Amino acid sequence: MTTRAIKWADWRRSIESRCDYLSRSFGGVDSAVRLDQITEQSGVKRVEFRPLLVEGGLSIQGDGFVMYVNCSKDQISQLNDEFVCNGGRSLPNRMRFTIAHELIHTFFFELSSDAPRNRVKVTSDKDHDQLERLCDFGAGLLLMPSRRIGPLLDREPQISPDSLRRLAQHFAVSLDALLIRLNGMSWGNHRGFAALIVEDGQTFKIRASATDSTSKHLFSTVQTNNTLGQEILESLQTCRGSQDAVVYEYPCHIGQKEAVQPCVVMCDRITHEPSKFVLSIQLSGDPKFESATTIPGDIRRSM
Ligand SMILES: [Zn+2]
Repeated sequence: MTTRAIKWADWRRSIESRCDYLSRSFGGVDSAVRLDQITEQSGVKRVEFRPLLVEGGLSIQGDGFVMYVNCSKDQISQLNDEFVCNGGRSLPNRMRFTIAHELIHTFFFELSSDAPRNRVKVTSDKDHDQLERLCDFGAGLLLMPSRRIGPLLDREPQISPDSLRRLAQHFAVSLDALLIRLNGMSWGNHRGFAALIVEDGQTFKIRASATDSTSKHLFSTVQTNNTLGQEILESLQTCRGSQDAVVYEYPCHIGQKEAVQPCVVMCDRITHEPSKFVLSIQLSGDPKFESATTIPGDIRRSM
């Protein structure tokens, strides 16, 4: 591991513990995390809603920061009221994520009685991307704390478009943000894959996707290429827009051996223009070692 990689890994760990502390101590007890006290604790003197060319930004003011969040002129007074009244719990999901993202940027500064001092030198595009990714990662942790999201996942009877929507609504985040957060973590009793898919002409594109920590080997090609395998594509076309569950056997390799993994696929349309879908693939039972052929959908009503 290079020194640079170790540095980012250290930042990641420090972001994890700081987000846990902040959301636990200042995020309130309601479903959607409050953001007012958390921003204050991080040295943000004021959150300003105003028209910007970007989603958000920070500026240094005295020994702290002013945070800017993009909105239209006619939204300013209402957004200010919402931030003051309920700590931003009712703000649009996108703005909540922007505030959380900008807040993680403050972690990279050292606060003192003087102006905050930047502790990370970003000298390349790669560094910049890494920093932005870490801020997105931290924003997810802050808005969907580990100690809360785990038990909620466990309570869901299965991973489905409905359960994903419920979780996103609970934390007041977008489905994109939820999927980024779920990716690579343990899903408790559940195993599988979920994606937000946009229909683009004749093709389906994955906008965000998540795999639980134990199923990465099964869906690695889907995640790397951002394209759906023929089997998933067929079931998506079969059940698109409906809440039907399609049972099929997903071809995979366990070690050197070919196998099939029994799965339940569900897909629900969330918008028409453009056509957007939430797809869930819940693994059911253990893989079977036999010839890897897809079993045509045994379609039944939603469970
Ligand atoms: Zn950023």
